[in-house]
Amino acid sequence: MRPFAGDRLLVASHNIGKLEEIAHLLEPYGVSVVGAAEMQLPEPAETETTFVGNARIKAHAAARATGLPALADDSGLAVEALGGAPGVYTADWAETGNGRDFVMAMERVWHELEAANAAEPRKATFCCTFVMAWPDGHDEVFEGRMPGRIVWPMRGDRGHGYDPIFQPDGYDVTFAEMDRWEKNKISHRARAFEKLVEIFDR
Ligand code: IMP
Repeated sequence: MRPFAGDRLLVASHNIGKLEEIAHLLEPYGVSVVGAAEMQLPEPAETETTFVGNARIKAHAAARATGLPALADDSGLAVEALGGAPGVYTADWAETGNGRDFVMAMERVWHELEAANAAEPRKATFCCTFVMAWPDGHDEVFEGRMPGRIVWPMRGDRGHGYDPIFQPDGYDVTFAEMDRWEKNKISHRARAFEKLVEIFDR
């Protein structure tokens, strides 16, 4: 695995929450983070049909544009009885044309499962993929998954996105009923992070 030797990492994301989370994680390794907005990077279209495909588009575009190694991620929810949907379209299902509505997106998941007459448990997996790309075209991929099930009605008011309908395996609460610290310790993102930090270990 190719290590990251620098002390400043370009993260190909315009999402401030995500940048802060990654900055916090990398602090112990003496690595600071610079975001896509600060480098005035455009947001490339995510035209692939897999998480790794879209994370690769973002990481390589940023590395090519700046000449610096760049990190990108892509994440979402794959529901087994829906053939892996919404998958890479997880955020799109919440799009209204006037901001995102996740209650609408969760209702759609529920209606589609009902229409498919899906058996219980309605298995689903939250996925997170990080791609680290170098300007010479090399990349490294790190994936984290959290298996669980879709529940209805929605439960809990913490977290974000689809958290109120996702109950992770081994728990009887949804992500939205867990405290943030607990969720961040076990989530798909935490699992991908655990693998990612190996390239910063020095
Ligand atoms: P992206 O990775 O920024 O493209 O976002 C993917 C979408 O997946 C987000 O808009 C969220 O709706 C959803 N998502 C990713 N991780 C989580 C999570 O931990 N809880 C709830 N929703 C999530």
